[in-house]
Amino acid sequence: MNDLKSILDIIQRPFSLEKKTRYQDKAVFGGLGAYVASWVTKAIPFSKSSQIDQLKKLSYIFEDYSEALPSERKLKLEESIKIIEQLQNGEILKQNNVEKADTIDQTPIPKDENDDLELEDQNIETMPEIQITDEADKIVALSTPIEYVKGIGPKRSELLMKEISIRTVGDLMEYYPRDYHDRSRFKSIYQVGRSGDYETIQGIVVNQLEITPRRAGAQKFLKVIVYDETAVASMIAFGKRIQYMKQSLKLETKLVVSGKFKRDYGEIQTSEYTYEILSDEDAELIHTGRIVPVYPLTANLIQRSLRRWVKSVLDNYVNYVQEILPSEIRNRLQLIDKQEAVKNIHFPDSEQNLKAARHRLAFDELLLLELGLGVRKKRWEIEEPGISFKEKTDLLKRFVKSLPFQLTSAQKKAFAEIKKDMESPRPLNRLLQGDVGSGKTVVAAMAMLLAVDNEYQSALMAPTEILAEQHYNTLTNLLEPLGIKVVLLRGDMHKKERDKSLIRIKTGEANIVVGTHAIIQSGVEFANLGLAIIDEQHRFGVMQRAELKNKGVNPDVLVMTATPIPRTLALTVYGDFNISVIDQLPPGRQKIATHWVPEGKRKDMYKFIESQIAEGRQAYLVYPLVEESEKLEDLKAATEMAEHFQNEVFPHLKVGLIHGRMKSDEKQEIMTKFKNNEINILVSTTVIEVGIDVPNASLMLIEHAERFGLAQLHQLRGRVGRSSHKSYCMLIADPSNEDAVRRVKAMERTNNGFEIAEEDLAIRGPGEFFGTKQAGMPDLKVANLIIDAKLLEIAREEAFQIATDDPGLIKPEHQMLKKILREKWQQNLEMISIG
Ligand code: ADP
Ligand code: MG
Repeated sequence: MNDLKSILDIIQRPFSLEKKTRYQDKAVFGGLGAYVASWVTKAIPFSKSSQIDQLKKLSYIFEDYSEALPSERKLKLEESIKIIEQLQNGEILKQNNVEKADTIDQTPIPKDENDDLELEDQNIETMPEIQITDEADKIVALSTPIEYVKGIGPKRSELLMKEISIRTVGDLMEYYPRDYHDRSRFKSIYQVGRSGDYETIQGIVVNQLEITPRRAGAQKFLKVIVYDETAVASMIAFGKRIQYMKQSLKLETKLVVSGKFKRDYGEIQTSEYTYEILSDEDAELIHTGRIVPVYPLTANLIQRSLRRWVKSVLDNYVNYVQEILPSEIRNRLQLIDKQEAVKNIHFPDSEQNLKAARHRLAFDELLLLELGLGVRKKRWEIEEPGISFKEKTDLLKRFVKSLPFQLTSAQKKAFAEIKKDMESPRPLNRLLQGDVGSGKTVVAAMAMLLAVDNEYQSALMAPTEILAEQHYNTLTNLLEPLGIKVVLLRGDMHKKERDKSLIRIKTGEANIVVGTHAIIQSGVEFANLGLAIIDEQHRFGVMQRAELKNKGVNPDVLVMTATPIPRTLALTVYGDFNISVIDQLPPGRQKIATHWVPEGKRKDMYKFIESQIAEGRQAYLVYPLVEESEKLEDLKAATEMAEHFQNEVFPHLKVGLIHGRMKSDEKQEIMTKFKNNEINILVSTTVIEVGIDVPNASLMLIEHAERFGLAQLHQLRGRVGRSSHKSYCMLIADPSNEDAVRRVKAMERTNNGFEIAEEDLAIRGPGEFFGTKQAGMPDLKVANLIIDAKLLEIAREEAFQIATDDPGLIKPEHQMLKKILREKWQQNLEMISIG
């Protein structure tokens, strides 16, 4: 091991174990940080200066390894593997300024410094400080490029930009901690070393011992002995730290140490710690002796540097942070001052202040989010008067009478809400939310009838052709007897057929148009579109909704979704909609018995399917292919399964196959046969996921359930349990995937779409659940839509009140809000036009 190459091998040796054990920093005794530092020290004598730079970078990366999150550690390992590879390949890297600036400096360490692995201020090109005097320039101060901040400078600012896209003072102020360590409670040395947690002590250096163990290969180390009048403790240092600590922790130095203390070898000692020298009694502590912020890191950023930079930004710029809330709101809701909040979110004075700071900043974020939505909604209502529909004939009454069932009270209530909006001159903008099978289609039909009653056309847009076709059939059956013309528009219609439909739409002969996104294509012109309905809204984007709306002159808009989202989230994601919920299933529906069937029970399950079919029921067998990506080889698997079922498992039954690659006519033919019970078992890909309604089908088997998301499983399951027949859903899933097991268990546990959605949110997090970014909404850095549900409601109420009182945000007390709102919502075109 006396050449660079072997040492690099040794450094890398624990990496694979570390990776395997999921970055718990358990791969080597004492942690990878100390390990790498010590081997880097040994490697330096064998290295050229260009290599030394790379080696220093390595130990820099590991400096705060013990404090990093597993995900951050992963980045660090990956980065260091790259560096080691470069070193092994003998590549001498071009000297990159950024790297040079922030790696270890070999120059003697200044007395008052304690950060061994950080570049200190001496290397910073001094930048002119900007003086801000004018009150009006205050906000501008926060856009100061970060390089002008004391202690940062151009090279570090480049690093900040590259690693975490931080450009300005304001950006760094909004780089919030991901966690905190409470190092505020000092303990006497005699008390520490029994808890296994981080503990903080204060004392003076009374001795330094440099120890070279006799045992061959053992590492040299330094002990710094600290005394506090109750006992002594040893701080152990290896590698590079030895030299550094020897110089900076001279006898009599006062310091604060936060670390994991152990009682070992007959003494109290720590080898995992950070410390700060108390050079001046009043100096503010950053890393110890307080509640310490823990920032999200990348491979090239270390905790201590970030803390110091943020501290410097706060010390110099926090006074320029402006209050954005009217004082009336702040007083009424007892929110702390904005500057206090910004200070305390980073360097809290106490647990209580941290809470207050979080609360205040979360409120601001949620208020801005809701205000954006509120202002948009209000302006829309004011500026664009809609159609005021009135019930003119007995059409609706006749329709309700003709139904083969009674409406549920939830359906009646939802329709009453829709009707009220339709009657008012403000355009309807409503989300109809209801679990699968709750009967949204009938409610949509009633809204369309109200439009027909006023001689307006309606459009119903569905995400798949099968579903559009099904809606067309349902509506034709229900409405043609009442003399209403329903027209279907599909993507793959023959030109002649399509032209015929287009003419009927344009002349107004068609009262109701049902279709896929074919409806929003150019060439489709309505005579007078008054109501646009979108089924299964989650399958469409914001743009498509706007396009459908543009087919009419400010028509009413109703969107429907079976993705049951918790109320607070609905308020946000559909913040400018009003919401109606159908929270009740039609009577007679029973819980769908859901079971995770082990592979070994497959035969029994087939027998069960058989017995259900003997009773007259039908079954779906679902394969995990998503429509858009249905590849030929996957389809082959589904096709082969269908053949296998037909020929070997159920030779005496009729097995059908349906998938997304089939032509519409073929799909339609299969669906019709299934609906008429001419097919007993339908092998299907996820084309049947949304909306399909064959009430006699009471059994569903989902293969490879582990490949489906929870919401999707719930949607699929919603194809059964659509009548009073007892229904079953069987899941075959590979138990090796933890998240999948959680999903399958949730399916077994509940049929309730809201509970499923909550669970899904918990598994996936709101970002993935919705892709809120797509909607141009500002990100939330402090607030969490799940945890802060209550605060969201409060913020929404305040925001909508402001939007109602002052929709243009022209009052003086709303100027700051308006300014920030513009910045935060800048991606969203509609918002830019305010004020
Ligand atoms: P979804 O809300 O999932 O779109 P559908 O509108 O497809 O649900 O309705 C599911 C099934 O329930 C359909 O067969 C429909 O005819 C039936 N249905 C709707 N409302 C009622 C009701 N009030 N009573 C009984 N059955 C109903
Ligand atoms: Mg539906």
